[in-house]
Amino acid sequence: MESWDVIVVGAGMAGLLSAYYLQEAGKKVLVLEADKVASGQTGRTTAKITSQHGLKYSKLIKAVGARKAKLYAQANEAAIREYEKLIRKNGIECQFERVPACLYSMRKEEELRKEAEAATKLGIDAFFTKHTELPFAVAGAVCFPNQAQFEPLAFVEAIAAKLTIKEETRVLTIKGNRVITRDGEFTASDIVAATHYPLLNVPGFYFLRQHQERSYVLALSGCEKLSEMYYGIDKDGLSFRQMGDNLLLGGSGHRTGQSGKEAFERLKGAAKTYFPDCQIVNQWAAQDCMPHDGIPFIGKYSIFTPNLYVATGFQKWGMTSSMVAALVLRDEICGNENDYRKLFSPQRMNIGASFKNLILDVGISVKGLARGWTHTKKRRCPHMGCELVWNPDEKSWDCPCHGSRFDESGALLDNPAKRDKY
Ligand SMILES: Cc1cc2nc3c(=O)[nH]c(=O)nc-3n(C[C@H](O)[C@H](O)[C@H](O)COP(=O)(O)OP(=O)(O)OC[C@H]3O[C@@H](n4cnc5c(N)ncnc54)[C@H](O)[C@@H]3O)c2cc1C
Repeated sequence: MESWDVIVVGAGMAGLLSAYYLQEAGKKVLVLEADKVASGQTGRTTAKITSQHGLKYSKLIKAVGARKAKLYAQANEAAIREYEKLIRKNGIECQFERVPACLYSMRKEEELRKEAEAATKLGIDAFFTKHTELPFAVAGAVCFPNQAQFEPLAFVEAIAAKLTIKEETRVLTIKGNRVITRDGEFTASDIVAATHYPLLNVPGFYFLRQHQERSYVLALSGCEKLSEMYYGIDKDGLSFRQMGDNLLLGGSGHRTGQSGKEAFERLKGAAKTYFPDCQIVNQWAAQDCMPHDGIPFIGKYSIFTPNLYVATGFQKWGMTSSMVAALVLRDEICGNENDYRKLFSPQRMNIGASFKNLILDVGISVKGLARGWTHTKKRRCPHMGCELVWNPDEKSWDCPCHGSRFDESGALLDNPAKRDKY
């Protein structure tokens, strides 16, 4: 049985960065990956590196107070700086560049003005404007001038090359210091679960604390280049970012397992309207975990598992959140102080901020479970038994309760389920 200081489960952005910083701190680290490096959501990200996470700061101040909102802002701003430092230090060629990030709306000027005020109050460089480079008129935009973007796969490749990684090694379970895979066991003093959706249901109960949402992306060629990143806050809002010669156009988000209502078609319609001369060169979708209080879970997996850690709940903002996770987990495991530890602790209790979403999620899960248990001849998710729903856009079977996905033949596409079939 091989023994390590730390085993990191999952080679996405969160796992790789956690492994990198722990190794840099002197730990002997092994990464176990079920598939290939960056084969999960990280391989499908649009890779904006930003502290601008939608209409975040006015909501956070209301939900958890200005002190915690300020810590959230500082942690994410520090993460952008840390990417820059890491990329420079290692000479990583990944097209990292500082660019502004702007939230826009066709209707909600007042909300954007309030967001600019809230962000400024928390110490972020931010301003409201009515002028953007977008090919349509906006009611307004909030811009954070000093954000960043990069080519995530080039970055990941450079970081992965420095680490010991076993690919195609799915972790089945974790028991104390033992990490159990189909091909044998490994032991470690500390274990980090960076599997996107946490891989153990109990303890931790993350299936009661977050749900998953999908979003869709088109890569367009032949459009006029945008020099800033954009994110729309309206119901049908779009995301824009330039990646080399291609423009990435995102949107059509919805809860996994609920119909995307021709998600790709809607994006293609927007592409045709706003960039009539462009060509669609690629398309894909991805999903992320949405915690009830709007703050990722980074830290001890549960009070019953002293050597097990987790990083999840990134709300489609996993570039800075992965960096925050790596630094917080390094400090926890190495016994260092970290200013952000309590804010992201999975043991926090933001009951007021979580309650409405908790009730909504529990309602949807109970409905899905009841349908799965009563319609036993229908396709059921091996995670907890919810009835799976056909996703016509992607030709997959998706779980509305917790977001597992399977292809037409029943092969597992996305966790928390750990095995094929239904
Ligand atoms: C459409 C879309 C666009 C996005 N764009 C942005 C953006 O512009 N900026 C931003 O900040 N964020 C963005 N995000 C979010 C970001 O992509 C994710 O938050 C981030 O990639 C998650 O990284 P991760 O390491 O947690 O998960 P993953 O990348 O999914 O990594 C988890 C890894 O764990 C492995 N794994 C799972 N189970 C096991 C097991 N049992 N044993 C071993 N290995 C296992 C998986 O194979 C996978 O490789 C976007 C999300 C979406 C949906």
